[in-house]
Amino acid sequence: MTAPHHSERMPVVEIDRAALAANWALLAARNPGARTGAAVKADGYGLGAAETARTLHAAGCRDFFVAWAEEGRIVRAALDALTHPDDGTAPARIFVLQGLEPDSVSLHLDAGLIPVLSTPGDIAVWCNGLKAAGRRAPAAIQLETGMHRLGLDRADAEAAADLAASGELDLALVMSHLASADEPTDQSARQQARFLELAALFPGVPRSLANSAAVFLGSEFGFDLTRPGIALYGGEAGPASRGVLRPVARLTAAILQIRTANAGEAAGYGAAAPLTRDTRIATVGLGYADGYHRAASGAGVAVRDVRPGPQAVVAGQRVPVLGRVSMDLTLLDVTDVPDNALVPGDRAEFFGPNMSIDAVANAAGTIAYELLTGLGPRVERRWV
Ligand SMILES: *Cc1c(COP(=O)(O)O)cnc(C)c1O
Repeated sequence: MTAPHHSERMPVVEIDRAALAANWALLAARNPGARTGAAVKADGYGLGAAETARTLHAAGCRDFFVAWAEEGRIVRAALDALTHPDDGTAPARIFVLQGLEPDSVSLHLDAGLIPVLSTPGDIAVWCNGLKAAGRRAPAAIQLETGMHRLGLDRADAEAAADLAASGELDLALVMSHLASADEPTDQSARQQARFLELAALFPGVPRSLANSAAVFLGSEFGFDLTRPGIALYGGEAGPASRGVLRPVARLTAAILQIRTANAGEAAGYGAAAPLTRDTRIATVGLGYADGYHRAASGAGVAVRDVRPGPQAVVAGQRVPVLGRVSMDLTLLDVTDVPDNALVPGDRAEFFGPNMSIDAVANAAGTIAYELLTGLGPRVERRWV
């Protein structure tokens, strides 16, 4: 794929490499007894899996999690291309979370990917594939502990334990996933207890339970390997993470036009923003096609009750989004910004160090994960 051309005025997400590495180190320091991995699925939470993996590898990360084998292949290629390869002691491991089908066994073997087996079908495909290829290779298994998403129930886990005991399954990891680690509920403790119980079927096999939020829950969730995602990218992971993580992604877009409309007129599609005062409007080149949700539309839009309203930052000042976000454009009310402080071509920050991505997500009725992974292909990923 050739890189698309990006004009000066197109939307950009700046990715702060140092902040990404610092967040990984901060998470690692919370569980000094465990390895700290990284979820880089969905193209590194929208920011670019290859560059994310390389940055985290340089920070010391050796365990990467993706959803699909194809994503794993991209991460493997990125790591293989490193100019400072492994020191020989610890090759990077890439875990593929969503199981496998017969066709993808050879891809796992070729790219050195570790499948996470969550169903008896996954296990059969893997064992048969290895036999057919005459190979041995490690796998991971996922245990169902209360989320009811992916994972082996007790009976299937016992069958897997037999295969592991007989040597037919070579297990690098047993894992499970928490449903509510970012919320004050006892579900996490119940899942942790269930995990301990089921993981005991696999003596000696390293264990992993924690996503980002669980890294902040306490050492009893750390086990041997943690798997943070969103916190690496600067998104909140429960109350304890607030103010601790560095923002990583900064989404900016250029002002294309600045104009004044009179009180009594209205701005944008559907005249959804009636103007109660003479209003200076900055039209910015960013829209829902870029991943800035239409649900982030400002006051007067019937999409949802948005409170407090979504905002952007221009000239160091927070300003409200005005009317409906359209496909390629968003309007900002810049009446309160001094006349001489703004000219077309200036960029507005839609999230980043000055505008928390979680606050924006909240205003749009969603979560930081969705804002990041929904960044459109027109948004240039610029590593700084
Ligand atoms: C996505 C994912 C993670 C990372 O979750 P965050 O909430 O982003 O930290 C960890 N484990 C599994 C199984 C996942 O699917």
